[in-house]
Amino acid sequence: MIPFIDLRKQYSRIEKDVDQAIKKVLLHGQYILGPEVAELERKLADFAGTKYCLGCSSGTDALLMAMMAMDFKKGDAVFTTPFTFFATVEMIAMTGATPVFADIDPKTYNIDPAKLREAILKVRAEGKLNPKAIVTVDIFGQPADYDAIQKIADEFGLPVIEDGAQAMGALCKGRRVPSLGKIGCTSFFPAKPLGCYGDGGAVFTDDKELYDAMFSILVHGRGGDKYDNVRLGLNARLDTVQAAVLLEKLKIYPEEIELRQKVVAKYREVLDGLVTLPHVPEGNVSVWAQFCVLSPDFAAIQDALRKNDIPSARYYPIPMHLLKAMEYLGYRKGDMPEAEKVADTVFALPMHAYLDDATIEKIGAVIRSVVKK
Ligand SMILES: *Cc1c(COP(=O)(O)O)cnc(C)c1O
Repeated sequence: MIPFIDLRKQYSRIEKDVDQAIKKVLLHGQYILGPEVAELERKLADFAGTKYCLGCSSGTDALLMAMMAMDFKKGDAVFTTPFTFFATVEMIAMTGATPVFADIDPKTYNIDPAKLREAILKVRAEGKLNPKAIVTVDIFGQPADYDAIQKIADEFGLPVIEDGAQAMGALCKGRRVPSLGKIGCTSFFPAKPLGCYGDGGAVFTDDKELYDAMFSILVHGRGGDKYDNVRLGLNARLDTVQAAVLLEKLKIYPEEIELRQKVVAKYREVLDGLVTLPHVPEGNVSVWAQFCVLSPDFAAIQDALRKNDIPSARYYPIPMHLLKAMEYLGYRKGDMPEAEKVADTVFALPMHAYLDDATIEKIGAVIRSVVKK
């Protein structure tokens, strides 16, 4: 069986260093907020190009911390994409705010800035909800259109939270994810481009006040002292062991981003003309969290791949506005036509930095045998 994401191959490359780093934590015993966490936060902030970074327990908690720091609440409208992993929308709703969707660009699958502007104008005209913020997602590893989005954010005075859970280190006109919003969030879930060996995440910002708020929220709303709680918070710390793993993985991550470009170049060569290939606008570098293609024949292709022991997956078969959990928002099928179209035909092929040419050729041959029938 070909692995969908080959974490074993990566581990065999850094095995000694990772083992040693974990052992070091076991010996010093500072499992909670040990020195590795602060070191990682410094290195991640440098890599992303932000002033501050805070490690936390998951990408989901990163989003929640950012939204709590910005005081999302009932009566707020938060504008976001219908084509993402549920956590983005789930955390907006969790704060009591109302997610308001703007359809995607059919080429990049990221939020369409023109539709975003329309959605904000509509909420303003209705006057029921208070426009609060924009939450962007860098879907499948590719940054959204931040030039256009920031213009709209400035026009309406709305802060941007960047959900960069899939895109740590991707580039948008020379700036790295997740440094493109007021607060950036990322995830170190094992299958993400930069993953640890469990759950983990981080928030990034240049804003001291928001950083201080998130620093407090991270540990039960701490004040100057641990038992001087000044607000409601969470227990959302990043484990020291995971920080130690991430420090080792971060060392090879820039090279892995390059390797991912090579894998995708090979996929493009092999799949040309067979399926709709991903579009990367000028100025963007994706980190390819997923290699997703579109085909009306996806079911037959997935079936043939399965018979050849090649895994594939569907991200995401149901857009957010049509999920049962979001029924209360009152959206209907047809409200987000572009997201619905993509959701109906998208599927993901094996993707990781160590995928070799022979495997990609084999995957291509199977897909060719279905499409060219
Ligand atoms: C994975 C993911 C998250 C959640 O990250 P976790 O670390 O799994 O909590 C949030 N948003 C997007 C877009 C994701 O892909």
